[in-house]
Amino acid sequence: MTPSGGVTVRVPAKVNVQLAVGAARPDGFHDLANVFLAVSLYDEVTATPADELTITCEGPDADKVPLDRTNLAARAAELLAARHGISPDVHLHIAKDIPVAGGMAGGSADGAGALLACDALWGLNSSRADLLEICAELGSDVPFSLVGGAALGTGRGEKLTELPVGGAFHWVFAVADGGLSTPTVFAEFDRLAEGAEIPDPTASPALLDALRTGDTTALAAALTNDLQPAALSLRPSLAATLTAGTDAGALATLVSGSGPTTAFLAKDAESAEAVAAALIASGTCRTARVATSPAPGAIVLPSA
Ligand code: ATP
Repeated sequence: MTPSGGVTVRVPAKVNVQLAVGAARPDGFHDLANVFLAVSLYDEVTATPADELTITCEGPDADKVPLDRTNLAARAAELLAARHGISPDVHLHIAKDIPVAGGMAGGSADGAGALLACDALWGLNSSRADLLEICAELGSDVPFSLVGGAALGTGRGEKLTELPVGGAFHWVFAVADGGLSTPTVFAEFDRLAEGAEIPDPTASPALLDALRTGDTTALAAALTNDLQPAALSLRPSLAATLTAGTDAGALATLVSGSGPTTAFLAKDAESAEAVAAALIASGTCRTARVATSPAPGAIVLPSA
């Protein structure tokens, strides 16, 4: 519930249904063709007036979330305030349900959530374009957290084109113990790719078609993640989780982004529940969650 005088924003996690990674550029970044899909696992960020910028966090992974100015929610508040020449005096409370360092853009979600919450709290009425510009400054995945739905990200992933989605998809996410750092996974990608010819990343027409028509079977056939071999190399135990999901009837399996969360596409809601139960029983993950997509982007919740 939003405390009186505060603003709460709900913001979704994402799964990359395609993550095509190009060769390392001279600046160290990689060009990507990144198809984001927002899923119905949410963090909530509440902004309330305060004497100075402070952050608190609750949830099963709260102890892994930095509560200093490195938190993307704090950085979002600072960037927005600086743009308007005001002081970022706000308390940000994060109710965290998205796994931390799990490849589901939880930190980016909190950045986008804090931005929207502070914009509303401070009555700034920023344009969508202004908010998206600050999001891109915060990180490659942050613009998508604001927009939600489905989108193709190019460049470092931050140039977004929204994509039509013709139906609902049912997912299970297996949460692993511990996280994986995204830069470490990209470094492992570079190590594994050494000497190989890496094609320019492009979005798969079959995948875009599957999203547009809402065809689960076609989406299952088109899911790809170029970071998966690197995540599996760093965390070989994920292979057993993927196998457990396949054995339980998942149509397709995928490491989510840089991992170690793994994603399972199910035929329908009932099958998703069965896959989640089997994954938990398999003992190959910390827990498993069902979710649907597409989910809306960051939204201000009505106050109590
Ligand atoms: P992505 O999918 O965008 O690569 P991720 O889901 O793997 O990201 P995050 O949960 O965003 O990873 O966290 C990555 C790191 O960012 C954390 O280990 C933490 O140190 C830092 N961080 C900064 N702000 C936050 C936040 N609000 N929530 C969680 N982690 C944060």
